[in-house]
Formats: sequence, structure tokens, C-alpha cells
Amino acid sequence: ATMRNYHTRSPATGKLVKEYPEISNAEVQEAVGKAHSRYENDWRFRSIAERARVVAKAAAIMREKADELAGYVTLEMGKLIDQSRSEVELSAAIMEYYATHAERLLKTRAIPEAPGSVIASEPIGVLLAVEPWNFPYYQLARVAGPQLVVGNVVMVKHARNVPQCALAFARILEEAGAPEGVYTNLFCSFHQVNALIDDFRVRGVTLTGSEQAGAAVAERAGRQMKKVVLELGGSDPFIVLEDAKLDHAIIQGAEGRLRVMGQECTSSKRFIIVGKERGRIFLEGLVQAMGNLKVGDPADNSTTLGPLSSEQTLHDLLKQIHSAKAHGARIVLGGKRLDRPGFYIEPTIITDIAEDNPLYQAEAFGPVASVYVVDNEEQAVKLANATQYGLGASIFSTDIAHAQALATRIDSGMVFINSPAYFAPELPFGGVKNSGFGRETGELGIGEFINYKLIRVA
Ligand code: NAP
Repeated sequence: ATMRNYHTRSPATGKLVKEYPEISNAEVQEAVGKAHSRYENDWRFRSIAERARVVAKAAAIMREKADELAGYVTLEMGKLIDQSRSEVELSAAIMEYYATHAERLLKTRAIPEAPGSVIASEPIGVLLAVEPWNFPYYQLARVAGPQLVVGNVVMVKHARNVPQCALAFARILEEAGAPEGVYTNLFCSFHQVNALIDDFRVRGVTLTGSEQAGAAVAERAGRQMKKVVLELGGSDPFIVLEDAKLDHAIIQGAEGRLRVMGQECTSSKRFIIVGKERGRIFLEGLVQAMGNLKVGDPADNSTTLGPLSSEQTLHDLLKQIHSAKAHGARIVLGGKRLDRPGFYIEPTIITDIAEDNPLYQAEAFGPVASVYVVDNEEQAVKLANATQYGLGASIFSTDIAHAQALATRIDSGMVFINSPAYFAPELPFGGVKNSGFGRETGELGIGEFINYKLIRVA
């Protein structure tokens, strides 16, 4: 048994709890065969209402089993238990959103300029989803919710460190009445992912994860002319303008950086404060807010500082901090592994990050805040747009109209005014530049794998 197996390892203790073997090539073939025949002979022809009922039922079961489901998240990737419960709630809400609005979102539309012509919203077939561990249910819900309602069927390769979450989600759909082949969890290898991408029966691929994984999967899918959605990394700016309420910005900034221990694609990662004196006050406040947390077991309700998800994440983050320092940055808070079992790190704040410092461009996937102080708004915008990413920026200001105007100048898929980025079923989520392309959730999220079929009467 190697680390490459699917496994549950407690990030709070470092102990291996359970391992799951990878499936064989024959099992992958059998699964894709079943998914494809279920799609062709059954699922695509069911009514929208019938498919929506299954998805709505799954949401209801998620709510009933919220404690059990939250427990797997906290056990496997170390999320604080109340945040795990919120994730279960959010995932159920996404499934409900699509079940409730399916008829409207998938309605056949007339083309007013072309009488006799309509656009029907039809499924395209078997989809493959490759997903990460940081939101083990939300990532699945935002694919399965909309796509099953559309009439597509979904095969999922989840991250290796959250197998119990992967199995729990599959069980829920089964209990909700999804017949075999509609939703399939696969404990498979990269080699098998590639074989699935090459398989003609698989008609679309969606991946949430790192740029490397995204590029590898998109390249492979491109060779097969398959549509891809990519939700990749981010290094989102958190801009505090001169008229922003500093106290509010500090609290929200700490929240945006620390939620899920900073392991969110849309975590606020680069704090950009306009004005020297205000920059000093903000930094002081952030040191206070990030430096006074209660370390402990993530399953304990009173803990506010949990572990990172894995030894690898911890290792990568420590390396990044050392490299930032070696390139002349100043570590204002933290920077070290905590001396206790499990994968804990001190919340860290870094300043004096020069343009040639690797951290200037990189994503820090953990509780590591970069703080920049600039003289004016022009410099803030320039710095906000300086990385190759563009996911979910924040602007803090008391002048909302001004902040809205400034939002048009930020190169990102989302801009949040006076809050860190957050998720909601009705809001479209996604990025530009190396943060990927395509959208998930909201009305746009259901459209990525639809065949918008023109039906025209002469
Ligand atoms: P990751 O290593 O890319 O893993 C994500 C998924 O891709 C896992 O299932 C992984 O499988 C698989 N994978 C990795 N390399 C692959 C390859 N070459 N071919 C096929 N599959 C491959 O990412 P991570 O470290 O778990 O997650 C962190 C990254 O995801 C961060 O950059 C973060 O910003 C990003 N993220 C983005 C969003 C978004 O919505 N934009 C949301 C969350 C996270 P294994 O587990 O088997 O390695």
C-alpha cells in the first residue's frame, strides 16, 4: 500500500485511518459502459421534473445526514467542524437550486427574429469530473446538481485523500433514486483518467484543481475535441481603498484568509492597502486577528486553528515561506510548523515582497497573507492585476458606486465589494487567465454541457 492509494489520513494526528485500492482497467471499462447505456437508454429521455426529483431528494438526504457527512470532511481533510457543516448545507442548497429552477433554466426558447425556429436545451452524454479535496461535497454538488438535471450522467475522479466523502456522496444519490450509471465514483489512476478522456463515449470533462492538472487534462481533451471547464488556482487581491472602514476590512480580511485554513481557490491572498498610515494600522490589526487563534482538533467546536489537509500541503507552504524570505521578504507573523502531531502551521503574514520574489506571482494555498501597501488606487489596480490568476477579487470602500466602477478594471471572474469571495447557489463562479474558464453554479453553471439544439421549420 502506497501513498498513491486512495486513503483517509487524519490531518489532526497524521495517522493513516483507512485505505482503498484503485480499481482495475476492466472495472473502469465496465463503469463507463454502464454510464453510457444508462444515458442512451434511460436518463436523457426522462422528464426534467423526474430528474429534478432525484436531485432534490439527494439534497434532502444531505440535510438529514449533515452531521455524519460533515464528520467525514473534518476527519479526512481537517476542516473545522462548523465549516464542514456549512459546506454540507451549501451543497444541499446548490442541488435544491437546480432542482427548483430546472424547468425554467432548460425551457425551449423561441428566436423572435426567426419564426419557426426554437433552441432546445439537451444533454450531451457522459461527463467526467476531476475534483479536489478542499470542498469535498461542494465540488461534486456543483457538477452533479446541474448536470444530472440537464440529463447528462456524471463520472467522478475525486482527490485521493477524501475517499469517504466521495463514497458518501455517491451513496446519497443512490438512496435518492439515481439508477446505476447516473452518478459513478471512481477510485482511479491518472492513466485511467486519460483513458476515459480518450473514450468517445465521454463527451465532456470538468476539472477543479491546480494549473498543472488543468493543463494536462485540457490538453488531452483538446486532442479529442471535447469541451472542458477548468476551475483552477487563484491569488486573489483584497483591495482596501482610502475611504474603507479599516476595522471591518481587517475582520473580513482575516476571515477571507483563514477560512478552510486558507486552502480555498478564492481565499483572499494578497492584501493591498492604499495609504502608508492606513497600511500600518491594517497590518497591526491583521497580526492581532490572525495571531490569536485556538489551536486544536478540528472536530472540536471551540477550535479556531485546525490543521492543513496533508503533509504535502504543509511541506509546500513551508518551502514557499522560506523562499519568500530568501528573496528578501519579511515574515511579520508565524512562518513555522507547530510542534505537535498532525499538519499544523502558524498563521503567517509576509510583507516587503518585491516584484522578483516568487511569492509575488504564486498562490499560497494555506494561511499565509501577503500584505502590500501602495500610495494610490492606480498602483492598487496594477498590483491586483499583476499575477497570472484572475478569480475572485475583493474591493473595500464606503463609496459603492466608485467600487463598482473600479471593479470593471480588475481582471477576474468575480469581484466582491466589502466582503471576501464567497459561494452561493445562484451566483456564477469561475475565473479568467490561468484561473481557468467556464462557470459553475448559478444560471451560467448549468449551460456548460448543454447541446443548445436549433430546431427550425422551413
Ligand atoms: P490537484 O493536485 O490539481 O488535484 C485536483 C484533482 O486533480 C485531484 O483529483 C487530483 O488527483 C487530480 N489530478 C492532479 N494531477 C492530475 C493529472 N495530471 N491528470 C489528471 N488528474 C490530475 O489540486 P489540489 O492540490 O488538490 O488542489 C489545490 C488547487 O486547486 C489550488 O490551486 C486551488 O486554487 C485549486 N482550486 C480551484 C478551485 C476553483 O473553483 N477555481 C476550487 C478549489 C481548488 P489526485 O488526488 O489523485 O492527485
